[in-house]
Amino acid sequence: MLIVMKAAATDEQVRAVCEKVEGLGLRAHPMPGATRTAVGITGNKSDIETATFDEMPGVQEVIHVSKAYKLVSREVKDDKTVVRFPHADASVGGSEVAVIAGPCAIESREQAFAAAERIARAGAKFFRGGAYKPRTSPYAFQGLGEEGLRIMAEVRDHFGLAIVTEAVDNESLDLVEKYADVIQIGARNMQNFSLLKRAGRARKPVLLKRGMSATLDEFLMAAEYIMSEGNYQVILCERGVRTFADHTRNTLDLSVVPAVQRLSHLPIIVDPSHGTGKRNKVTPLSRAAVAVGADGLIVEVHPDPEKAMSDGAQSLFPDQFDQLMHEVRQIAAVLGRSVAKPIENPAAPVTAASR
Ligand code: PEP
Ligand code: MN
Repeated sequence: MLIVMKAAATDEQVRAVCEKVEGLGLRAHPMPGATRTAVGITGNKSDIETATFDEMPGVQEVIHVSKAYKLVSREVKDDKTVVRFPHADASVGGSEVAVIAGPCAIESREQAFAAAERIARAGAKFFRGGAYKPRTSPYAFQGLGEEGLRIMAEVRDHFGLAIVTEAVDNESLDLVEKYADVIQIGARNMQNFSLLKRAGRARKPVLLKRGMSATLDEFLMAAEYIMSEGNYQVILCERGVRTFADHTRNTLDLSVVPAVQRLSHLPIIVDPSHGTGKRNKVTPLSRAAVAVGADGLIVEVHPDPEKAMSDGAQSLFPDQFDQLMHEVRQIAAVLGRSVAKPIENPAAPVTAASR
């Protein structure tokens, strides 16, 4: 159920509604919008008597939410969610198309800094890299663990980039929450419900990747798990699904972008690296993702892809990433959006004025 407050409702009136909801043993989710606040209610097993709230001061109307996913849906919040990272002068879901780039895995301090330097120079404001890697083989490189997170934190301090890295279980999530700016939940964990709930209690934004065989409903319900625990800063990510096609590692389902945007206020970005598995297809699919209206890209870039410890075949050389940025900048402009410009001295402290 959803309680829509009047545009002129005061903070106290919103608070009184939330207290009444909690008093019934339910959970209140206040969602401030551009013109008015709505309060989502979760936790009810049956219908709630609307008269309980109808007459409260500041309440405009009480409506039943028809979708199974509630907090995620546009019924609850029509204006788009923008997730902001002030220290990096960055956001996801606004008019600037966010670009997240970096190696698949953090391998060493030298490798991470070499990648970050080129990525920041090209204009990207987010640095990705795995410290915990979910690998198909137990014998493959599993990541540097906390040491990798420390290296990423150093990258943030040095370049002013926002850090995106994956948590694979509750223990690694505790550490990722401490060091990173965005907690990534990987495709293989999209329906790990206890991990989703833990991410929902985290105080950092969550990047939720679509499972490789997840339907749109399952994808949105996974986001609902995170939001139902009180974390509303969720960024969705399409990373390709399994099909019979074998010319690419996965089939990048770009049609899910407008499908998500129709149903949900959450931002959605695209991962053309895991989506194709092949370096030569990453830039074309990045162009397509921006053209289809994605709010951002997450791209694997390695200073020396041929020596990468994971996903080398799909990692771009830094020069190719420069070209990708150049091309998507022009496509974004067609849609009235922007992609940040290259910067000359990425190690200088970042201020809004220097961007
Ligand atoms: C990754 O981003 O390196 C990764 C493992 O992604 P996914 O969960 O989409 O496979
Ligand atoms: Mn990877």
